[in-house]
Amino acid sequence: MSILITGSAGRVGSKVVKRLLDQGDSVTGFDLRPSGITHVNYREVTGAFDDRAAAQRAAKGTTAVLHLGAFMSWLPSDSDKLHRANVDGTRVILEEAAKHKPRRIIFASSGEVYPENVPDYLPVDEDHPIKPRSPYGLTKQLGEEIVRFVERTTSIPATILRFSHTQDAAELLDPTSFFSGPRFFLHPKIKQQESFNNIAAVEKLKRQDDGTEALVLSRNESGRPFRMHITDTRDMVDGILLALTAERAAGRTYNLGATAPVDFAEALPLMAQLTGLPLKTIDLPGGGVFYETSNARIRNDLGFEPKWTIDRMIAEAVQARRDRIQAT
Ligand code: NAD
Repeated sequence: MSILITGSAGRVGSKVVKRLLDQGDSVTGFDLRPSGITHVNYREVTGAFDDRAAAQRAAKGTTAVLHLGAFMSWLPSDSDKLHRANVDGTRVILEEAAKHKPRRIIFASSGEVYPENVPDYLPVDEDHPIKPRSPYGLTKQLGEEIVRFVERTTSIPATILRFSHTQDAAELLDPTSFFSGPRFFLHPKIKQQESFNNIAAVEKLKRQDDGTEALVLSRNESGRPFRMHITDTRDMVDGILLALTAERAAGRTYNLGATAPVDFAEALPLMAQLTGLPLKTIDLPGGGVFYETSNARIRNDLGFEPKWTIDRMIAEAVQARRDRIQAT
């Protein structure tokens, strides 16, 4: 008998596995990749979510399912892979898990279902219309539908958590990091914009490139600095475990993330000051990123209280960057 955690090798899933093992639970991990976690109460299945045989092995004896794994990509060419992993994968793993009558399903959805970066109103709350614009956001909307279908037809209570953008603090100042590299560093940002074929953005970015490593303060075409939520993985783990244990969370949908959004006009100068890196301010074509998402429902219902402000995350990121540089 154990708690099934999908995405057990991932940023969020691996930390949830460790927290549950620390508190004495038995856990089964399920991921394409091995997590490297070893523990007497830990079993791991490697395989794809939509592989029926692997899902069957992973689901054996499950007492609760935390479906935290997914494929994340914003490339239209990844659409088939996104639907296989996030839609069919969700259907197959939940069908297999439901046979064991777990007490709860927790599903990691995303603010991409609204989507937060094209909001009808601010702050974005859980009643905001769902009209995703990316293939990834669409797969999360369909994943939510599958979760509610399974809940309706099996009476296993489910909680949907619409995740904020989530990072380990150490990733923030790592130019090789999947999200923070292109978000905050000039060269990875040029590469990312080239892969999206955003020619106008690439030209603007390249004009600022003198060949040295630099941070980027992104603004929209009218000069408005980007603003978005960046939540520390540790706070997300707290929210997930609250949702798993609270009776009140059954059948509910919550935005899960930091209380205050990060204003890039404040965070980037701080990062530059603390690292000594040059900062380039760039007005990118289009409306840019500017949103605020309300976490009031999960705070009021479950007492969720995030602890990792962006300043605390940046302080840790600076130390991690120093350690990386020293190690090379
Ligand atoms: P992650 O990429 O670090 O981890 C996801 C894990 O899922 C990976 O270990 C990957 O190997 C596994 N995986 C992907 N496709 C698979 C498949 N077909 N079969 C088996 N395993 C597969 O992601 P994360 O940051 O830990 O995110 C956790 C969840 O939160 C995901 O569902 C993601 O969509 C969602 N989410 C994340 C963010 C964010 O900013 N990190 C924001 C919103 C929502």
